[in-house]
Amino acid sequence: MLKRIMILCLVIMSIMGVGCVNAATPQITAINWSVNRENNLRVVLDCTQLTNAKAELTDTSLTIIVNGKLRPTIGRRYSFAGSTVKSMNVSAQGDKTILILPLKRPLKSSEYKLFLLRNNPGAKRPDRVVLDIVNGDRTVGEQKSGGIANCIIPTYSVAGGIRGKHITLDPGHGGSDPGAHGSVTGVEEKSITLPVAKKLKDILESKGVIVAMTRTTDVDVWGSDATDVQELQARVDVAEKNKADLFISVHCNANTNKNIGGFSTYYNPKTPYDEKIAEFIQNRLLKTANLRDLGTRSANLYVNKHSSMPSTLVELLFLSNAREEKLLRSNWFQNKMAQAIADGIEDFYKQNGGVS
Ligand SMILES: [Zn+2]
Repeated sequence: MLKRIMILCLVIMSIMGVGCVNAATPQITAINWSVNRENNLRVVLDCTQLTNAKAELTDTSLTIIVNGKLRPTIGRRYSFAGSTVKSMNVSAQGDKTILILPLKRPLKSSEYKLFLLRNNPGAKRPDRVVLDIVNGDRTVGEQKSGGIANCIIPTYSVAGGIRGKHITLDPGHGGSDPGAHGSVTGVEEKSITLPVAKKLKDILESKGVIVAMTRTTDVDVWGSDATDVQELQARVDVAEKNKADLFISVHCNANTNKNIGGFSTYYNPKTPYDEKIAEFIQNRLLKTANLRDLGTRSANLYVNKHSSMPSTLVELLFLSNAREEKLLRSNWFQNKMAQAIADGIEDFYKQNGGVS
């Protein structure tokens, strides 16, 4: 199914690094590199087949040894504008290709990642060896200890302001899943998250954002017979497919104690920015009215944890609280909440994700 658009890739650890090797000798057919908007360097080696590679890190250099014969036409010297790595020398040693990257400062193991990507015939991409080096002290995600893993290479950006950003909005629940119910009117959570998300979409689009929605009507995203995980992954897939820079899920809260109320915003700290976007949004929500601050909360919610880009799940007030149910049902207050979330997102981008 296209529902699952995870890229199958092998993640290999610096010292270990053994992949699958066929009998024929792999060849390196091209070396490409790029520096993204955040000054992170990516070096990609196209290979005739899936191969293996390992990294050797010292204080002064990072050496990558790839099990693949270097095509003689490939360039040997590369220079980059990065602050950590400014050049790369490529050489052939028999059936191996050696990349040597002198370091301007010692690199931490969390600041680079070496992994393999399987070929993608649809996109005309061959098997590849990929090296990512981050610029600065941020990490490039969890290093996994060898073997095959499903992973998505993050491509999000937090720099350069809100205009042109890709943001996916997820109105919680829908279709066969109504979510929580209002204690006074019985209003369903799914019928509040959708209009709030649509209002938010309009505001974001007026700020130049490219918005994708996991749903625009009262439907299940995966289908009414989905498991919980299938339904939630389908929502994450929308964000991945749209190469979202940010993924926002909108929900309303409920509690058996009808006195409990307030705003809370959840995140999973899988990138340096998840907590920050939650804080920026929560701060703006608190300015909408005199309502309780239940804080930003680190959690393992599926959509936050399994999305590759910064994401947050907003719990807009409590349907179980009569006063808040009335606010949630009000068109006026839905507009205020949508505006607050949009303002929080704009704050986040004005400060380049809030992480210095
Ligand atoms: Zn919910």
